[in-house]
Amino acid sequence: MLKAVYTATSLKSDLNQRGFRLTPQREKILDVFQRLPQGNHLSAEDLHNILKDRGERLSLSTVYRTLNLMARIGILREVELAEGHKHYEINPPYPNHHHHLVCVQCHRTVEFKNELISKLGLKQAEASGFHLLDCQLTIYGVCLEALRQGWPSLLPSDWSCPHSGLDMADGTDL
Ligand SMILES: [Zn+2]
Ligand SMILES: [Zn+2]
Repeated sequence: MLKAVYTATSLKSDLNQRGFRLTPQREKILDVFQRLPQGNHLSAEDLHNILKDRGERLSLSTVYRTLNLMARIGILREVELAEGHKHYEINPPYPNHHHHLVCVQCHRTVEFKNELISKLGLKQAEASGFHLLDCQLTIYGVCLEALRQGWPSLLPSDWSCPHSGLDMADGTDL
């Protein structure tokens, strides 16, 4: 399983190192991400709803602002996996970044880790005088289920993939 490697303490010190405080609001938001089953990504609206269900009273604009800030400083990462929808997930520090493989038809997403890609990202960042925050590769393809059903031209318009959703590739290191 791909595990988020932040603990409550390391998250706090990481934030402090970057000059930000772990305010109660930020803590609540990051806690949702920390508890998320691996492989899940949340939109701002998803997050807002989860907080509401938990009885937290954070406005949607606070949620947006916090997500933006956390993504900008590399604590969260913004992923745009399908249809221009922005989603967020925890961005663990190097070398724990993971990558995505996305089906363009059903948006099924597979997460994977690859040491080679992570190393390459770090090497390139350092060579250019950058401090690495994140390294992500998104690979697009079509799943076998869609291909078997005649993708693209013969695929029934109401077809929905039986496996649609998220898949957790178990850290397949290629
Ligand atoms: Zn992911
Ligand atoms: Zn598919």
